[in-house]
Amino acid sequence: MGDARAVTDLVISLYRNVPAARPGVCRICHTGPNNKPNGEPYEICSSCDRTVNGFRRHVEPVVPISLAVEEGDDNGLFRLVARKEAVPASANRLKPATLMAATIARFYEAHETCLTGLAGGPFTTVTTIPSTRLDRPIAAFHIMPQVIGMVSALRPLYKPLLLPNDKYASVLARRKSHPHAFQMMGTRNGSQRLRGERILLVDDLFVSGAHAQSAASTLFEAGAEEVVALVIIRLIVPTVWHENRMDIWHEASAQPFTFDRCCLCAQKGR
Ligand SMILES: [Zn+2]
Ligand SMILES: [Zn+2]
Repeated sequence: MGDARAVTDLVISLYRNVPAARPGVCRICHTGPNNKPNGEPYEICSSCDRTVNGFRRHVEPVVPISLAVEEGDDNGLFRLVARKEAVPASANRLKPATLMAATIARFYEAHETCLTGLAGGPFTTVTTIPSTRLDRPIAAFHIMPQVIGMVSALRPLYKPLLLPNDKYASVLARRKSHPHAFQMMGTRNGSQRLRGERILLVDDLFVSGAHAQSAASTLFEAGAEEVVALVIIRLIVPTVWHENRMDIWHEASAQPFTFDRCCLCAQKGR
C-alpha cells in the first residue's frame, strides 16, 4: 500500500479529527458523554456505559481514525466506509476497500507506537470483526479481511478468529453487547487458545461499541493478553440538545484533519 498517502490525500477533506479523552470526551470511544444533573460530564458516554456492562474485560480506549456523521452534507466518509458507496475522487471513482485499506495503512504507519503502547508490546495477531447476517448488504459482507489483505504492515499478522453467533445478531442490531455474540473459530484448546496474544482488532464502523466490545470479550475469554480496537470511523450524532457532542463535532470540523495526530498522542501538543 505504498500509495496510501496519495489515495487518502484525494479525500482528506472527508476525515474529521478525533479528540483525545478529557472531561466532556468519553474516555472509551471519544464521543460526547451526557452531563450529570450538576452540569459535570460523565466519564463515559451512555453507549459505552451500556456496551461494556457485564463483561469481565472490555476494550479501553477504542481508537477511531476519524469521526463521521450519517446525515447531512458532511457525510461523505460515512457513505464511503459504512454504506460502501464509491465517492468521486479526481477522474476515477475510489473503491471503498481501496480507500479503507489506504486509511488504515497510513494511520498505522504514523501511530503504530501509540497502538502498541496500549497493547504493551508489538501485536502478535491482527483480526477483524465478522459481520452478522443483519449487519450488511451481502456485497460488503467480507470486506474487512479483504481490506487487511491490502495493508502490507498488517497482512502477515492477519488471522480470522471470530464467528458471529446468529442467535445474538438481533441483540447486536439493537446496539447491545453480549458475551456470546461471537465465538472462537474451532473449539480446540478452549480458553487458553490465545494465551499471550496481543491482538489488534480492526473494524470499519463503531456506532455503539456493541460489536467491538462483544468481539473483544470473546478474545479475552479465549486468553488474549491484550486487545486493542482500531476503527476507521466513530459515528457521532451531533444534536443541539447534546452539548458535549456538539462541541466535539464543531471542534473536529474547525481544524483540517491530519494523519500526524491521533486521539492517543494528540494531548502531547500535536
Ligand atoms: Zn463512549
Ligand atoms: Zn498517535
